[in-house]
Amino acid sequence: MRDLCPPGGISGVLTGMRIAKTSLHLEAAERIRELIVEGDLPPGSRIPERELCEQFGISRTPLREALKVLASEGLISLTQNRGARVVKLSRQDIEDTFQVMEALEALAGELACSRITDEELADVRALHYQMLAHFERNEMADYIRINQAIHEAIITAARNPVLSQMYEGLSGRVQRSRYRATMSRNRWRESLQEHEEILDALTARDSKRLAHVLSEHIEHKLEVLSTSSMVSPGEEADMDEDYRPGAAGG
Ligand SMILES: [Zn+2]
Repeated sequence: MRDLCPPGGISGVLTGMRIAKTSLHLEAAERIRELIVEGDLPPGSRIPERELCEQFGISRTPLREALKVLASEGLISLTQNRGARVVKLSRQDIEDTFQVMEALEALAGELACSRITDEELADVRALHYQMLAHFERNEMADYIRINQAIHEAIITAARNPVLSQMYEGLSGRVQRSRYRATMSRNRWRESLQEHEEILDALTARDSKRLAHVLSEHIEHKLEVLSTSSMVSPGEEADMDEDYRPGAAGG
């Protein structure tokens, strides 16, 4: 076997690999992600790098690192001359993203059935009833928030970090617009019924059924999105501004 150690030993190599202030750029990425998701940085807009550095009180290097993270998630695009921009998603991009998310959710459901603890299951059940109460009180934003927490709890219960990471990246990509309460009461009721089935299948630890129900649930979200009044004429080619996955059925 060849000697892989360079002259000076491994410490010579490691000197240049010091990891410093790692959380700084991750925090910056998180803040910028919020600005994008909440619509403060709209699709297609330029990322105001200098202003953000000032606002966050950080230097250029961690900001650039943060932008690379967001670029890897598909939230922004980096070009050498024009700087960073918030990505605009086409309808096709959104459909493609949903397709992969559907497969991941179904797989997560399948795995969660055998891996979820009783305590986690009780948490999901509690969230479900909390969500139901928001439906009764017509509180859509809260409903959507809890809804998302349920989906995330199922992903977590699958205990597959690769899956979690992929799912997070994809959902970050499509969840960037502010929630707006445009889901019809009918679709809302259907969504709730699907959630009843999700809870039933999970409680029964019926992996095939849960995978099926989750995959239908996400397909309905996309259907509502494609057909609903959420996308007003003229905006069809570019749904960024009006695309709100939560509003599309949760
Ligand atoms: Zn849902």
